[in-house]
Amino acid sequence: MPTQRQLFLQHLAQTSDSPILLEIEKAEGIYLYDSSGKKYFDLISGISVSNVGHRHPKVIEAIEVQLKKYLHVMVYGEYIESPQVQFAKLLTENLPSQLNSVYFTNSGTEATEGAIKLAKRFTGRSEIVSFRNSYHGSTQGALSVLGDENFRNAFRPLIPGNRLLHFGHEEELALITAETAAVILEPVQAEAGVISADKKYFQLLQKRCNAVGALIILDECQTGLGRTGTLWCFEQLEILPDILLLAKSLGGGMPLGAFIANHELMKALSFNPALGHITTFGGHPVSCAAGKAAMKVLLEEKLIDKTEEKKNLFLQLLHHSKIKSVRAAGLLIAIEFNDEVFNKKVISHCIQNGLITDWFMFAPSCMRLAPPFIISEEEIKKSCSVILQAVDSVTQ
Ligand code: PMP
Repeated sequence: MPTQRQLFLQHLAQTSDSPILLEIEKAEGIYLYDSSGKKYFDLISGISVSNVGHRHPKVIEAIEVQLKKYLHVMVYGEYIESPQVQFAKLLTENLPSQLNSVYFTNSGTEATEGAIKLAKRFTGRSEIVSFRNSYHGSTQGALSVLGDENFRNAFRPLIPGNRLLHFGHEEELALITAETAAVILEPVQAEAGVISADKKYFQLLQKRCNAVGALIILDECQTGLGRTGTLWCFEQLEILPDILLLAKSLGGGMPLGAFIANHELMKALSFNPALGHITTFGGHPVSCAAGKAAMKVLLEEKLIDKTEEKKNLFLQLLHHSKIKSVRAAGLLIAIEFNDEVFNKKVISHCIQNGLITDWFMFAPSCMRLAPPFIISEEEIKKSCSVILQAVDSVTQ
């Protein structure tokens, strides 16, 4: 009988020659358990997804309630499905009043695609400005604005007419012009290894976009819903996006994304042509029920309020002569080492010792920490000691 591992390698499409290959049996709170019963700290939340922890009881309850009513009943946008309606209500109640219309998608990359189409359709322009080292998804449109040649090159030709700027460089903002339909950017560049720009830069960017009539698509797929210490990262920057992208933790562990805009703007997808963006499963009722429950947990249990204290504890504990720097935006943390080889050895030691972490796509010498917000002080101390021990072992 072939093992699960053999079947995985034989029958599941592989995305690299070095998958992590943990055989997961169960997940609960901040822990994963493998088929041998070994327990792991999940310090990356399945890449910024399980913000309220794995299988939060209120999320599971909401899923069970919805399972008894209906699963898929119709493509997006036709029937009145209460989980979608109620979740859109909760999201918009917690957003500035201009962001009052939610289009639910399957994923982050679909949210990027929908938002780019909306910006092109609304402005009648075609140029999309994006940034070096940005990540917005892996489909053709998202790849066309992605800021890393290594990931794009093999898939050319991509969508033409896009322009890449250096993130944080004020002098390049003049390259946003009356030809630009939209500027797409992350408030903190996650996959670049948690790279921030100052508030003034974002405000200048907003000013420039307003002056030339370009829209701002703010990608909060990874930073949204509390990851950087406030419900939305843009609150810290005091800017107002025209289109907001959400995904990752949005579905509380179920697949879900969204692009959110003003009703007037969003209307452009409903005529000339009608059905300007179509999705069969976007806003799946079970995903929306789970997402709404997760967001309620986040708000009612005030989980975001405690992220600053937790971030500071990580920063206080993560000191070692081999650690070059630590960058943090709330509980999105990058531990930078001198090189990729060293980082990858530390990561594999951590996994052997029961702590899951990984590297960033465009910053392979940086270790990623993005724990569930429910991680306790004690668990942070234990995690940091596993990491520091791994650094010691690799140093020797
Ligand atoms: N935008 C950002 C900022 C992301 O981090 C990601 C996923 N890493 C995406 C978009 C794409 O999301 P998905 O994988 O759900 O398509």
